[in-house]
Amino acid sequence: MPQIYKQSYSEFRPDEYIYAKSKEEVIAILKQYGESARIVGAGITLHEMAVLGFLPHVKKLIDLRNLGLEYVRVEGAQVRIGASTRLREIASNDFFRKDPAFQTVSEAIDSIPLQVANAATLGGNLCSAVPILSMPPVLMALDAELVLTGSKGDRVISINEFYLDYLLTSIQPDEFLSEVRIPTREQAGRNKRASTYLAEKVVAVDYPTLSLTAALSIDKDSKFEEVRIAVGSAGRIPTRLPNTEKSLQGKKFENSTLDKASESAAKEIDPSADLRASPEYRRTLVSYLLKQAVHKCASKIGSGGPR
Ligand SMILES: Cc1cc2nc3c(=O)[nH]c(=O)nc-3n(C[C@H](O)[C@H](O)[C@H](O)COP(=O)(O)OP(=O)(O)OC[C@H]3O[C@@H](n4cnc5c(N)ncnc54)[C@H](O)[C@@H]3O)c2cc1C
Repeated sequence: MPQIYKQSYSEFRPDEYIYAKSKEEVIAILKQYGESARIVGAGITLHEMAVLGFLPHVKKLIDLRNLGLEYVRVEGAQVRIGASTRLREIASNDFFRKDPAFQTVSEAIDSIPLQVANAATLGGNLCSAVPILSMPPVLMALDAELVLTGSKGDRVISINEFYLDYLLTSIQPDEFLSEVRIPTREQAGRNKRASTYLAEKVVAVDYPTLSLTAALSIDKDSKFEEVRIAVGSAGRIPTRLPNTEKSLQGKKFENSTLDKASESAAKEIDPSADLRASPEYRRTLVSYLLKQAVHKCASKIGSGGPR
């Protein structure tokens, strides 16, 4: 084993670490060096990929820290987060701590080991394109948009269109992620919305065996209105669960509805086996986490228990 580690890691030999001074410079470097240039956030996933021997071709590392992309701003009906913002900085923002509709963000980051969350960037977490990471499903459930900056300007896409396959996103070779936008929909009954993040981990410092984010609203008749459910570690890419969402929408908050939804979630995921769990265990887990998450959202909304 130690020999495999040494051989593969020794192939990772970048020859330049570039502190880019402008977005234009980042794009120019990406265009010039293509696959052999990589953006670096905190380098946590990059380090792991280098250890696995995935990055022998990388020669230029581009650091975005001088581009002013570290911010969390509420602007109109959106929260905008710069791609270089550290996860801990995001979690400590009052907006994500206090508003039940967006608390899934701080809950997810609180579940990540502190040393990791202090350094890791939102851009790096999203662009790793590894299905076990926490922020992609969280932002899918919040219907976030990504701003991809490239030679043709800014391209804004839904995060639901971003992940194509394991380690593969729809980002183009001359593009980088500059900003994440979360809609706040202030006018649409915001006080009745809640969100939550739940994850099962083998030990606290591990990656999630399975994670689930729910964002939903419940009306005065105890019926589910808007429902968005997304999962991580449940397939090759992080994903929403549209059938499960439909099984809740418009239905009453009662045990039979939750039973059907949790059956649907178990059918809808496409998990594989790894060191942490079998596919069967992950299906059991998603059913359990779904019910827990709906109950947690309902209690934040103040909707009481199912009838
Ligand atoms: C012990 C441990 C436990 C962990 N537990 C969790 C957990 O529970 N949940 C979780 O989510 N994560 C967990 N992590 C993983 C960690 O959160 C991620 O590795 C980290 O968020 C990646 O961010 P980074 O800034 O280090 O990215 P980097 O490693 O710097 O970059 C990752 C990838 O994204 C690309 N990239 C970075 N920024 C951009 C950009 N702006 N535009 C385009 N491409 C870009 C890079 O080129 C690279 O391919 C854990 C890590 C460890 C070591």
